[in-house]
Amino acid sequence: MSKLGCVCGHVIVDQTDQIPYKASFITDVDLFDFYDAVDDTMNTSLNHKETFSEQIIDRFIRYSADMYECTQCGRLWIGIGNNQFKAFLPESGKYQAILNIQHDRFK
Ligand SMILES: [Zn+2]
Repeated sequence: MSKLGCVCGHVIVDQTDQIPYKASFITDVDLFDFYDAVDDTMNTSLNHKETFSEQIIDRFIRYSADMYECTQCGRLWIGIGNNQFKAFLPESGKYQAILNIQHDRFK
């Protein structure tokens, strides 16, 4: 996705890295399949073109989906596959930077 038109008229742009209004997620239904895929990667030999980290990232991309928070109205746009999104409007009706939470425990 490079651009997503929000219902409010704002255009959500995804053309760089570390976007504060974007997140990637894995549903709980798919989480253990992702863990199994990571285990399988750890138990197989690397091919010559991919490093281990590239294979793990490839598995994450395969199992994850994107979500975006509209910076104009606060709608959350949840990826449901095939470049399709479903929107949810927060009670406040405002942008809350909910996807820009800094998790110090990961740093
Ligand atoms: Zn919007």
